[in-house]
Amino acid sequence: MRPPEHARGPAPHVLIAALTLLGAVAVVAAVLLAMRGDSEPGVGRALGDPAPRVTPTPVVLSAPESVEIEDTLPRAATPASGGQDDPPRTWSLEPAVSPWVIVNKLRPLDPQDYVPSDLRDVAGTSQQLRAEAADAMEAMMAAASDAGASFRISTAYRSYGFQESLFAAYQRDWGTARAETFSARAGHSEHQTGWAADVYESNACKVKACFADEAAGRWVAAHAWEYGFILRYPEGKQEITGYRYEPWHVRYVGTELATWMREHDVATLEEAFSLPAAPDYP
Ligand SMILES: [Zn+2]
Repeated sequence: MRPPEHARGPAPHVLIAALTLLGAVAVVAAVLLAMRGDSEPGVGRALGDPAPRVTPTPVVLSAPESVEIEDTLPRAATPASGGQDDPPRTWSLEPAVSPWVIVNKLRPLDPQDYVPSDLRDVAGTSQQLRAEAADAMEAMMAAASDAGASFRISTAYRSYGFQESLFAAYQRDWGTARAETFSARAGHSEHQTGWAADVYESNACKVKACFADEAAGRWVAAHAWEYGFILRYPEGKQEITGYRYEPWHVRYVGTELATWMREHDVATLEEAFSLPAAPDYP
């Protein structure tokens, strides 16, 4: 909002509007400052997908529909695999609701403002995942704990609006090109699907590459597939996924696909389904 250009002096309603605007700007600035904290990617260090320190505003969900989620999931158009080395074709790769939706810089979410209908808190955390992924995450966290490799969740589901604010803050601080190596534009984040989470062990290696060298990082890399999770942004695959190595970012795809990828030594979803590499936005 701009002050009227031809006004000789601000009328009372203009003053009120200006004060309201100032208040709104102050609130946004406070939120962005709070998000920065010590999780900014450090210069010269591996850049992460630094987690904001504020919790995303909980999404108010409408009453759950009475239909089974399973019935609403989009099956792949060609369910039968061609050969024994072909990837499974159980679910579609397209709509945001699909368990195998592939989101990257060339594949925005459809619809862009998608909100999963079955988000729930992962037990013991304030972070949300879709119900099936939350079940799997809880099992994985318990197993990691039993193995002496406990980890926590920094962020899981993020709304379109939250991602928009987050990316804008990184863009302002780091410039667009740099921000895009570690953070997604709104509508392009896997976190918005409700299938992905950032996990951490120590604050020192939270959303940093050194998570890979911690007990939890090693355990997750070795065992996540058993719970249906993959490391979505593996080392050395930035030209394909569009993102730097993120040993902390896990994506739920279910054990069928996670097992197939492991058995076939396929590191990325793009390679699994022979999709174009997505290093940059179109
Ligand atoms: Zn992430």
